[in-house]
Amino acid sequence: MNISETQALLRQAVEYGCEYLGSLDERPVFPDAVALAALEGFDEPLPGQPTPPGDVLRELQRLGSSATTANAGGRYFGFVNGGALPAALAGRVLADCWDQNAALQQMSPVAAKLEAVCERWLVDLLRLPEQSAVGLVSGTSVASLCGLLAGRNTLLTRAGWNVKQEGLFGAPALRVVMGSSAHATIRKALAILGIGAAQIELVPVDAQGRMNAKALPPLDERSLLVVQAGNVNSGAFDPFIPLCQAARRVGAWVHVDGAFGLWARACEATQALTDGVDLADSWSVDAHKTLNSPYDCGLIICRDRRALAAALQANDAYLHFGEGRDGMLYTPDMSRRARSIEVWAALKSLGRAGVAALVAQLCGRARQFADELGAQGFRILNDVVFNQTLVACAAPALTQRTLDYVQKSGECWCSGTMWRGEPAIRVSVCSWKTSGGDVRRSVAAFVAARERAESLNT
Ligand SMILES: *Cc1c(COP(=O)(O)O)cnc(C)c1O
Repeated sequence: MNISETQALLRQAVEYGCEYLGSLDERPVFPDAVALAALEGFDEPLPGQPTPPGDVLRELQRLGSSATTANAGGRYFGFVNGGALPAALAGRVLADCWDQNAALQQMSPVAAKLEAVCERWLVDLLRLPEQSAVGLVSGTSVASLCGLLAGRNTLLTRAGWNVKQEGLFGAPALRVVMGSSAHATIRKALAILGIGAAQIELVPVDAQGRMNAKALPPLDERSLLVVQAGNVNSGAFDPFIPLCQAARRVGAWVHVDGAFGLWARACEATQALTDGVDLADSWSVDAHKTLNSPYDCGLIICRDRRALAAALQANDAYLHFGEGRDGMLYTPDMSRRARSIEVWAALKSLGRAGVAALVAQLCGRARQFADELGAQGFRILNDVVFNQTLVACAAPALTQRTLDYVQKSGECWCSGTMWRGEPAIRVSVCSWKTSGGDVRRSVAAFVAARERAESLNT
């Protein structure tokens, strides 16, 4: 392919993407049965011979586009999935043309510079300790893995055990203390780190899923305490001040899972929810959720730069660590795409005021959901303190059938959960695109879905 053919192909891809973004208001939020069935078109043997790139792109558009969830639109409320800000999306497209590897400064000076800038901006915006290091990883799962790794190694070093030299077998035992509503990815990270369920002590939580600080077991210098800024169902925040103070007194390590909730710190109306969170040692947070950077991007932030780098460093004669920033010092992987480019674009386009307004907007729409669904006779199961609204109908079976019809409606999409022993519908408002009109349209879909579910009963 010559350069003008490559350019034509890219323009076509962008054209398809623009058409797609323009059709989001009409498109079903979850693909219909026809679109899902068409995916079977991809089931062919590996082609023996080349396919012209234009044909590859057309096939992707034809079979793939209608089998997407409309995450980029304003009525997708499943899990906790953010949208993509225009500047960040455009920055991502340009960065993909540049095809940079963010492992070393020598591989991409621009990616390294923007990592350093984002580090400074993020620590400032989230009001965390000034010298903290930031690593750009794929999401909060990996960010939590890195924070807990730095904590594990630091506690073992203090106990006189060099885990990089001696390994984990025979090491002094560590304890993990966390709330019983900790996110599943924390257990997964701990298991990868050689810390099993038998080493985990669960602290009871209150009706919102917040850790009960009074029930915290005595901590010591061998303890990792995991706290949460934003419960994945209720959006609730742990009481950081008593928890972090108890940990600091004895030299325990505190890791914060702040996947979507840590952004509360960047908004005056919500920042009190995170009071005391800056007393922790490491924080994981996603850029692809509340900040609305494109997928995928998570951030590991660590108070002790050297603890993070020591845990993740790889050495070899061919790796030249420079004077500037070498991103692979702060991440498990070496080759990575240059996520700093779209994070920088997101932060630059919003500015401090824009991030605050985005957080406030998401919270406001979640409250609008609670008010309008409440007025329609739905039960709101949580205190809506952030971007999450938990909804139920009069009876559990009706909730489940209503959720099923909401999901099939194509009007909006929510996921389900079990909350305090009953099925619930999770409404997670995470996209800059969600307007007041989107909320009203979605509430109407809830009402219609419940009517259908009720009519089944009779
Ligand atoms: C989304 C989420 C995670 C996992 O983050 P990924 O970016 O999907 O890896 C962890 N904890 C909480 C509270 C979350 O909301």
